[in-house]
Amino acid sequence: MLANTIQDTQYDVIIVGGRPAGASLAARLGQQNIKTLIVERASFPSGAAVSTPFILGHTMRLLDEIEADEDQYAENTPPMRRFVLEFKDYFRAFFPVATVGDRDYIYSVNRVKFDTALWNNLQKFDSVTAVANFSVTGLTKDKNGRITGITGRHPQQEEMTISAKCVVGADGRYSTVAKHAGAKVTEQRKDLDTHLFYAYWDGVADYDEQGDAVPHIHTSVDGFSYVFMPSADGQVSVVAQGQSDLYEALEGSAQEVYLNLLKRQPYVWRRMKNATQATKLSGIRRMGNLFREPAGAGWALVGDAYHQKDSIDAQGIYDALLMAKFLAAELGAWHRGEKDWDSAMSSYEANSYDDLKPMFDATMGRVQREIYDIPPEFVAKNVLRWVLTSKGYQHGFSHMLIREYDPNELMAPPAMLKMLGAGISTDIKRMFSSADNPNAMPAPELMPQ
Ligand SMILES: Cc1cc2nc3c(=O)[nH]c(=O)nc-3n(C[C@H](O)[C@H](O)[C@H](O)COP(=O)(O)OP(=O)(O)OC[C@H]3O[C@@H](n4cnc5c(N)ncnc54)[C@H](O)[C@@H]3O)c2cc1C
Repeated sequence: MLANTIQDTQYDVIIVGGRPAGASLAARLGQQNIKTLIVERASFPSGAAVSTPFILGHTMRLLDEIEADEDQYAENTPPMRRFVLEFKDYFRAFFPVATVGDRDYIYSVNRVKFDTALWNNLQKFDSVTAVANFSVTGLTKDKNGRITGITGRHPQQEEMTISAKCVVGADGRYSTVAKHAGAKVTEQRKDLDTHLFYAYWDGVADYDEQGDAVPHIHTSVDGFSYVFMPSADGQVSVVAQGQSDLYEALEGSAQEVYLNLLKRQPYVWRRMKNATQATKLSGIRRMGNLFREPAGAGWALVGDAYHQKDSIDAQGIYDALLMAKFLAAELGAWHRGEKDWDSAMSSYEANSYDDLKPMFDATMGRVQREIYDIPPEFVAKNVLRWVLTSKGYQHGFSHMLIREYDPNELMAPPAMLKMLGAGISTDIKRMFSSADNPNAMPAPELMPQ
């Protein structure tokens, strides 16, 4: 149920943070009838989380499991069935979206609609109390150091203490629970930090003559990358992302830097000449890539609080929902007395890490290749083109994003050789044919403005 204030001060589980990780964990604990309090600093609908996300079929499958309503979280949002990746003016590659169940599409959701739908979904679960506008300030501990509850504030109530058998931090990248519980960072890639800024725009030109909504990624091979994300109500989120050190060195306000970056790319700006910026700029500096310890005595972390990474592969929400699924199963077993706390939490850690780590490494590889590496022209124009335009890579990449294909296999030398061979043989065939090359970039002025 959604409540305005907190009346009861004793729960089985308290969850701090009410967006993808927290709201999905609460729903799964509600499905097991576990007495749960979920508190969230923001209110719904309200300003969105800093995030402009694609959600893919595998994410929607997990949303089905928590009974979330697609008509609400994707209200007035266009489904998208292909995406395009451009490398400077060298070449472009069209990728099909991988099908999951009967969904052959993805969305770029608006986080206000999405998060509100997940929060309102909690009304269905009698054992869950969901309280917005509540800010957690600290954790309480017993004499052995075990976490026993939270302290926090609600505008209509005095600072209060609420007890629970365990506290879960679903409170994002800068997690208060992680800080107060002393969760250590166990793995980190500071060398691949990126800055990312975005705003929603009205009146963005179509990608091409087909006129459908298409995620459009333009890598300018100079340390920056741009993404068009057609989202709810006809607006398009336009992202400028770059190596953190390069981004920081640019002069001007964040808004000026963002606009200058877009304007200097003809293949980006051609779609924006008649567009107007509809929202203020949002973004993140030095998007971190790390794992923390996921659990300790009386506490656990889920979602970005536990594991955060670059958004380039659009896995953050899926990972948050997946971790919540694993954690809910272990908390259920612990609550029913089938497992003690330590063995439940070590299973949570093992299950999560096994799933998250290969994709994390793949994402770091892609940030390296598409944002950090500045390959020589011959390599970018030929080797990358041969690989990225091969059917084998496109199938493997699309299916890796829905976690059906092992990222290690995609980049393994035998697979790479096959893709290179396919690319070279297509080039040879094209030399003897008069057909247009679908991977060639038309001049920007010949494309929709
Ligand atoms: C620019 C950008 C683009 C992204 N693009 C994608 C994408 O394309 N696809 C994708 O899947 N993922 C994407 N992500 C990642 C995705 O947004 C995150 O992985 C996801 O939001 C994590 O969910 P979460 O619930 O763990 O944390 P969050 O969404 O950060 O939610 C944490 C919540 O905790 C609350 N909170 C924090 N502290 C307290 C406190 N002390 N008391 C009470 N409440 C508190 C906050 O108010 C917040 O609502 C992107 C992220 C960024 C930054």
